[in-house]
Amino acid sequence: MADDAELLIAGGGLNGLALAIACAGAGLPTILADRQDLAATTAAAFDGRTSAIAYGSRLVLDGIGVWPEIAPEAEPIREIRVADDDSPLFLHYDHRDLAAGGLDPVPLGYIVENRVLRRALLAHAAALPELRLLSPCTVAEIAAGRDGAVAALGDGRSLRVRLVVAADGKESPLRHAAGIRVVEWRYDQIGIVTTVRHERPHGGVAVEHFLPAGPFAILPMTDDATQAPGRRARSSIVWTENAGLVPHLIAMPDADFTAELAARFGDFLGAVEPVGPRWTYPLALMQAERYAAPRLALLGEAAHVIHPIAGQGLNIGIRDVAALAELIVDARRLGLDIGDPMLLERYQRWRRADAMLLAAVTDGLNRLFSNTITPVRLVRDLGLAAVNRVPPLKRLLMRHAMGMLGDRPRLARGERL
Ligand SMILES: Cc1cc2nc3c(=O)[nH]c(=O)nc-3n(C[C@H](O)[C@H](O)[C@H](O)COP(=O)(O)OP(=O)(O)OC[C@H]3O[C@@H](n4cnc5c(N)ncnc54)[C@H](O)[C@@H]3O)c2cc1C
Repeated sequence: MADDAELLIAGGGLNGLALAIACAGAGLPTILADRQDLAATTAAAFDGRTSAIAYGSRLVLDGIGVWPEIAPEAEPIREIRVADDDSPLFLHYDHRDLAAGGLDPVPLGYIVENRVLRRALLAHAAALPELRLLSPCTVAEIAAGRDGAVAALGDGRSLRVRLVVAADGKESPLRHAAGIRVVEWRYDQIGIVTTVRHERPHGGVAVEHFLPAGPFAILPMTDDATQAPGRRARSSIVWTENAGLVPHLIAMPDADFTAELAARFGDFLGAVEPVGPRWTYPLALMQAERYAAPRLALLGEAAHVIHPIAGQGLNIGIRDVAALAELIVDARRLGLDIGDPMLLERYQRWRRADAMLLAAVTDGLNRLFSNTITPVRLVRDLGLAAVNRVPPLKRLLMRHAMGMLGDRPRLARGERL
């Protein structure tokens, strides 16, 4: 029986769409199915988040052809300031410090609204001749065989393919069905996400302010061109708070919520005012014990979920995309089976260590900073100040956060697939 496509991707979130574009763009017959209507996922009411896109992820998005459409709505991050509550000690990353180490002083990353990323990815996906988008359409079940897999769809149809990629998010029904176990816990914290307008321009500076309940991040956004000059500067807030307090904060009248937010934000950008809905996201950590099963690979949050403290969850997923696309496209060029167990084993070996390292680092940072124990505060503040004074170490940490270190796939090095 002929295959319906070589690759089936279950899930059209940011990671699934990026992989579909990378593979179909390289000529691989691909189907992407998402259980929700993908057109609806670009609506303002669907996702209020922005993403910090590391420079390395920008290279991947450029390599698959979508960055030119995103760039006008991406605010470059030129500096990152890390401060611990009211301590005078701090850590300051500046993209200009890269030049002192003989490196290009490129932005450390970009802040982009998730709906802008989705819109660009979907528009690109819809125009690729080798990509079929099925939505709304659930991938219900996979039966793996020696030469391929048969995927049963929720509407009763079935598809024959060589490889299925589960990009179906942190609850990943396909991961469960494959019997892949996970290590996971929920943080007793919720991320409140909202957009604020402020009097003064942010100058491309991102701020991570560690408070006792968790990090309070101020992420510089592009100006809001719909507003009058002087009212355009805005930032996205990721405010990590004790889970028990969040319902009370969310239900507050505007004036009280503004006062609570302003008390954490400070006055360094003048008066600040929330201008959008208050979104909430429960925070969790999850690592799948394996990233593959026969004829199945896990991608993005189906494989790993981390605390948003460092804005790296999607960036790890984009590195999964770059690695898996490279393995699949190279195998296809050699006429090999893209669902071969050796290929899946290589993918797991390549990607799992990176995701586990970031899970450990983000979990450790969250525990280290979300408490008020005096000796712990002293040690962490001295640590921040010490890193701040050692330029080579600072550059190393900057390049790690930018996704510019380690065994990077071709796309993440700025090369073609
Ligand atoms: C508050 C917060 C802030 C964050 N900020 C950042 C940041 O600044 N930088 C960063 O890098 N990361 C950030 N992240 C993480 C990032 O948002 C996620 O890692 C990323 O969005 C996950 O995308 P995904 O495509 O893997 O999964 P999802 O977006 O969950 O997509 C999964 C898709 O699969 C579909 N699906 C599910 N089951 C099926 C099925 N059976 N058949 C078909 N389709 C199915 C769903 O409909 C969905 O569309 C943040 C996270 C949070 C909570």
